[in-house]
Amino acid sequence: MLNYTPKEITERTALRINPCKTCQPVGAMYAALGVHKCLPHSHGSQGCCAFHRMYLTRHFKEPAVATSSSFTEGSSVFGGGSNLKTAIKNIFDLYNPDMIAVHTTCLSETIGDDLNALIQDNPVAEGKYVVHCNTPSYKGSHVTGFTNMVSGFVNYLSVKTGTPNGKVCLMPGFVNPGDMREYKRLMKAMKVEFTMLPDTSGVLDTPMTGKYNMFPEGGTKIDDIKGLGDCIKTVALGIQTSEPSAETLKKKCGVEFKALPLPMGVEATDEFIMTLGDISKEEVPFEIEEQRGQLVDIMLDIHPYTYGKKVAIYGDPDTVLGIAAFALELGMIPKYMLTGTPGVAFERSAKELLAKYAVEDCTYKADADLFLLHQWIKNEGVDLLIGGTYGKHIARAEDIPLVRMGFPIIDRYIHSYMPLVGYKGGIRMAELIGNALMDYQDSHCDEKDVEIVM
Ligand code: SF4
Repeated sequence: MLNYTPKEITERTALRINPCKTCQPVGAMYAALGVHKCLPHSHGSQGCCAFHRMYLTRHFKEPAVATSSSFTEGSSVFGGGSNLKTAIKNIFDLYNPDMIAVHTTCLSETIGDDLNALIQDNPVAEGKYVVHCNTPSYKGSHVTGFTNMVSGFVNYLSVKTGTPNGKVCLMPGFVNPGDMREYKRLMKAMKVEFTMLPDTSGVLDTPMTGKYNMFPEGGTKIDDIKGLGDCIKTVALGIQTSEPSAETLKKKCGVEFKALPLPMGVEATDEFIMTLGDISKEEVPFEIEEQRGQLVDIMLDIHPYTYGKKVAIYGDPDTVLGIAAFALELGMIPKYMLTGTPGVAFERSAKELLAKYAVEDCTYKADADLFLLHQWIKNEGVDLLIGGTYGKHIARAEDIPLVRMGFPIIDRYIHSYMPLVGYKGGIRMAELIGNALMDYQDSHCDEKDVEIVM
């Protein structure tokens, strides 16, 4: 399929081929699903909403519920105010959520609908809420949309009462429900009281019960979002994704924050655990120390297979940087780091990471696409690809093993249940990377070189 990708790289500004991102509302919808009894609402046409739901459903293999303002030609010309008014009434009457979280689309942004005014003009019953964020898809990416929705919740709901609640506000970054469960386990082990916003565990990883529940048990409670203003600190995981929302909370309620990279690999997880230790003043419990030791032991075991291997990593900015940091810890060379999400922070962090390990001749770029990544690989190959499903054509065309990590993964199962964060996530990453390289060796070496013991 990609046999005709040319080796010669031409500077492009207005064209993306095989994008490495999707549109803002996908992230906003995901964030809204992580709030208990909250229904995401797409203020635009049904087609947008269907696409966003499909995207999330394919990744999580769970139904992603959402409603739409169902724009027609009339609303495209005269604005979607009356559609939103009808939608709010119908949604509360039919589905009875506690909150509707509205995000915009390209169309409603282009019309210029003033969501703030529209929401103020449609008061709802006591105990019910309508919040919104702007998600114009002609800039940013799904990561930006996720950030904007989290900030939207803070802007609408969080209040400072003046009585600290002793909790930490944990902003998880754009990660899977499996990662969120792992955060919660680590927070509990470190004896830190917290509210995590959003929390999609218990929503997009629910067990089969034989009964459909439109609003599962999981998700951040609305009262807890209100209480974020009284938190003692915010720990924002994933600098590009979470820092802006932490800043919003600081601006609104004066809650100081510490922004950290996603806790992927040894050093970044150490930093996360030490930050929690500083807050709780508790010793790191044995169960965490033990898991760290296991990870280091595993890294030593697979080191002969990972050392010096060149890897191309693509996906969301914080995830790519987290995987790259772990790859460096494994002695690998992150030859290419690429994200479709714009923002100078990614390139700055990639540069710093490479400088820390004194690794040279690596290329990194934000706001780029997988066509460019393929061209880079055609000019100088790599031993391994790490990223989402959309890299599989490159893997096939160039005969490179692909490890699926990040978002979206729409051609495999279970991934969203398994953490990549924390020491436990490091063990899983080590297993996936090590096995992919060893499988490749098994299937590509001469028959006389096939090893039984590796
Ligand atoms: S029109 Fe805009 S919001 Fe709708 S699916 Fe396309 S990019 Fe996303």
